[in-house]
Amino acid sequence: MADADVDVVLLSVGADLPWLIGYEAMPSERLTMAVVPQSGDIHLVVPELEAPRVTVADDLFEVVAWHETEDPLGLVADSVGGGATVALGDQTWARFAIGLQDRVAGIRLQTASRMLGELRLRKDSVEIDMLRTAGAAADTVSAALAGERFSGRTERQLAASIAEATVAAGHDKAAFTIVASGPNAASPHHEPGDRAMQRGDVVVVDFGGSVRGYHSDTTRTFAVGDPPDDVAEAFEVLVEAQRVGRKTAEAGVAAEEVDAATRTVIDDAGYGKYFIHRTGHGIGLDVHEDPYLVVGNDTALEEGMAFSIEPGIYKPGRWGMRIEDIVVVTSEGLEALNNTDRSLVVVG
Ligand code: ZN
Ligand code: ZN
Ligand code: ZN
Repeated sequence: MADADVDVVLLSVGADLPWLIGYEAMPSERLTMAVVPQSGDIHLVVPELEAPRVTVADDLFEVVAWHETEDPLGLVADSVGGGATVALGDQTWARFAIGLQDRVAGIRLQTASRMLGELRLRKDSVEIDMLRTAGAAADTVSAALAGERFSGRTERQLAASIAEATVAAGHDKAAFTIVASGPNAASPHHEPGDRAMQRGDVVVVDFGGSVRGYHSDTTRTFAVGDPPDDVAEAFEVLVEAQRVGRKTAEAGVAAEEVDAATRTVIDDAGYGKYFIHRTGHGIGLDVHEDPYLVVGNDTALEEGMAFSIEPGIYKPGRWGMRIEDIVVVTSEGLEALNNTDRSLVVVG
């Protein structure tokens, strides 16, 4: 904070607060905010009715429970001096950010991610262990999918059973489940709906859960019955692109170089315009966080960084396909946290 000339860090909803002190704010209209001054004690301002949820070691900070009729933003504003430079958690509700601007004369706000993003970028061994546990649990679910019947079931039905299996396999929570079939698979973030899967479909299954807040995120693509030739051809290109991405990613390589590596394989095969997103994203307490594997990000990969490698090819109105693994940069090279069959798995 001294280096960044920040007087106070204020953290509310989002992953920065649990990363720092182990408590996650409820995303409600009632204010939860940690006040972290450059020197002195940390105060966690919480609604009185939520104070019992704060079960982490409280020698890290002092809990200030505000009563239902109190003005919690006033408590925070009083502890921030006029003219202070404040780093505010990126996901803080606008009404609290604007409220602080109204109450603290000359306050200078900046996004907390400028400091905390940098700190959260390299995972320590405890964090990597949780990512590993989550990845292995996700693989249990992925592997079992190969034996499932897809045809006749709706996307929503399959998604519900995947979410259930995600918890049964060892996650604390299911975070998201995408089941995108047939033409819907051309939409990378499709919301599972009532479409019944049928022979000839390509189905993209992308899901994840969390273990003590740390996420898994993996994608496998399935063919219901034997895939059409054009699908099989494109899939070979995709497998190669994803493999090249994993081979390229290592300490010292720029994040954007990994994106360039997968994209070159797909471009060279003539599918470039159908690869409509970046190659990957960092992962941890947030499903998407730094580092992003995208053109323009010249951040050099370093030991402890965890991210996805997930190229995809999407033919609008026809089909889509994606392969996604979470990987971690270690001193001995790249460790893949997802290791199930990456081929186009044919299901019934
Ligand atoms: Zn995604
Ligand atoms: Zn995913
Ligand atoms: Zn992802």
